[in-house]
Amino acid sequence: MRYSGLRVIAEALTGHKGWKPAWRDPAPQASYDYIIVGGGGHGLATAYYLAKEFKQARIAVLEKGWIGGGNVGRNTTIVRSNYLLDGNEPFYEFSMKLWEGLEQDFNYNAMVSQRGIINLFHTDAQRDAATRRGNAMIMHGADAELLNKEQVRSLYPFLNFENARFPIKGALMQRRGGTVRHDAVAWGYARGADQRGVDIIQNCEVTGMRIENGRMLGVETSRGFIGAKKVGVAVAGSSSKVMAHAGMRLPMESHVLQAFVSEGLKPLIDGVITYGAGHFYVSQSDKGGLVFGGDIDGYNSYAQRGNMPVVEDVAEGGMSLMPMIGRARLLRMWGGIMDMSMDGSPIIDKTDTEGLYFNGGWCYGGFKATPASGWAFAHLLATDQPHKTATAYRFDRFAKGLMIDEKGQGAQPNLH
Ligand SMILES: Cc1cc2nc3c(=O)[nH]c(=O)nc-3n(C[C@H](O)[C@H](O)[C@H](O)COP(=O)(O)OP(=O)(O)OC[C@H]3O[C@@H](n4cnc5c(N)ncnc54)[C@H](O)[C@@H]3O)c2cc1C
Repeated sequence: MRYSGLRVIAEALTGHKGWKPAWRDPAPQASYDYIIVGGGGHGLATAYYLAKEFKQARIAVLEKGWIGGGNVGRNTTIVRSNYLLDGNEPFYEFSMKLWEGLEQDFNYNAMVSQRGIINLFHTDAQRDAATRRGNAMIMHGADAELLNKEQVRSLYPFLNFENARFPIKGALMQRRGGTVRHDAVAWGYARGADQRGVDIIQNCEVTGMRIENGRMLGVETSRGFIGAKKVGVAVAGSSSKVMAHAGMRLPMESHVLQAFVSEGLKPLIDGVITYGAGHFYVSQSDKGGLVFGGDIDGYNSYAQRGNMPVVEDVAEGGMSLMPMIGRARLLRMWGGIMDMSMDGSPIIDKTDTEGLYFNGGWCYGGFKATPASGWAFAHLLATDQPHKTATAYRFDRFAKGLMIDEKGQGAQPNLH
């Protein structure tokens, strides 16, 4: 069934009896050509592009819980391509271009909203860094604008411009950045993949891997053994646990990141604002809630909830940037598990086991990468060659000293 405005009207006139489930609920088959482990955004996008763009068949996505229950449904929905380094910027700009056509491509309303994102700067040195980043973006075909203080003030007059310690001096703006409704991205890719024959199998946890003579034969699951020619792992915060089934120890740690939503307020913030003097960023959802977040909790954990010190830290950041946020009541908060890599950049690569591929290390920036990550991973799985925008995302960059340290902050996950 194709979704459209006419379809909605027709269904409204006939009592909404024609809607069908958006995807099937198939039982696992004995074997597949491709198994994607993890039904988050990246896993579902991979299956979708494998079937649609690379014309592959006999594909299954195995998800231990339910579609959208992981980070894809827990993030703060920001998309942007304002990266500096050659290893990153073409990839994220590729992702941005895919976002721009995504809803038409998979025929699903994902509420892609290019409402603009600003990264504030508070010192002359930060202005220099923002200028450099903006120039790098433009050289890679992305859009970037440097705003002065008055231009920022005309957008968001309520910000704390004259803060004695952190005065706002301007911002780097990317107008094409914005937000996308996160769970709809999972549902849209799931529906699109299902329509192309992909089996999406929920409540199916991968508990082991059968590897013989260095070759992948298939995966042990909570629903029995399933054979596969190629297995692609895209499990985000569970990366270390799942790849341990293949005897691999990853250059990665799992940390909690929290998100917060206020009560519904009248329209106040029509873009995305990122603080440059503390870890705090904020946007406003279409329901009116202020959606905001900050730093990771800073200790290793697989718990999908966080602790009070970071709540306090985020609240302090918010108060310092826009003091009136202290009048808003907090409605909800939650946590997700981040697959923090050692240089803050992801990995999309083959492993030493023939037929085993890995996609992870997204830290807290992987939502915006979902379309490009799915496309690049599908490219790698189908052709055994990295996609041209993802050639730097290799495992061996840590051994070779070719880290992609976007922020130049060092080789520790909690620094990124
Ligand atoms: C609070 C928060 C805010 C964020 N904000 C942003 C943002 O604004 N912008 C941005 O770009 N990024 C953001 N991120 C990061 C982004 O959400 C993640 O990087 C990205 O979603 C990870 O990829 P995924 O969608 O595939 O992960 P997930 O949705 O977590 O998918 C992985 C799936 O693997 C499944 N799985 C795990 N183990 C197994 C197993 N053994 N067998 C089968 N299945 C398994 C899990 O159940 C899960 O569904 C944020 C994250 C959080 C938590």
